[in-house]
Amino acid sequence: MRILIIEDEAPLLERVAAQLRAQGYAVDTATNGRDGLYCGQEYPLDAAVVDLGLPDLSGIDVIRRWRSGGQRFPVLILTARGRWQDKVEGLEAGADDYLVKPFHMEELQARLRALIRRTGGWTQAVLCCGPVALDTGAQQLTLEGQVVELTAYEYKLLEYLMLRAGTVVSKTELTEHLYEEDADRDSNVLEVLVGRLRRKLDPGRDLNPIETLRGRGYRFRLERSNA
Ligand code: CA
Repeated sequence: MRILIIEDEAPLLERVAAQLRAQGYAVDTATNGRDGLYCGQEYPLDAAVVDLGLPDLSGIDVIRRWRSGGQRFPVLILTARGRWQDKVEGLEAGADDYLVKPFHMEELQARLRALIRRTGGWTQAVLCCGPVALDTGAQQLTLEGQVVELTAYEYKLLEYLMLRAGTVVSKTELTEHLYEEDADRDSNVLEVLVGRLRRKLDPGRDLNPIETLRGRGYRFRLERSNA
């Protein structure tokens, strides 16, 4: 999952970025409104966290311009305590949720997860498809009730595919959403990762949860059992 954070307080930006990276997110950052606007227009984001008081261009203007330009990713705004008008203005501009500073990282992460799963049509934190259950809060996979250990990248790949269960996801899309801009993006790495995840998800080789569609990409094939 790829997240943009626009925040001009450097220590806060660094703290949030580091903690989201530790949770497995690919994180892009900007410290002013103009750079942030550009990142949201050019990068394939899964969500953005936007401080409202920014140099160059306010957070409200950034969101308005994204929305009028057709950018649909979910946006979480950061507002100062006691400024209820900011929340209203932010939501009216096209933000989806807000968080009042100072906030706990756990709350930011839970709100981001909720926003991201809703864009995939899921309302519950545990994504269930047949025998496969992925707990997006605990970041844990169970297969027929048994816990299966995943690496951080295996987890990110599976979460991305399950959030879009039933739809084809191209290799380019996966690479762009799983890795940061300057990461090594060799497509062989992705194929190896998919192979490892398949063996963990389907030890008996009878489920085939991840289909390969030649020249198009991958599809998580099992039907959703909840939503
Ligand atoms: Ca600020």
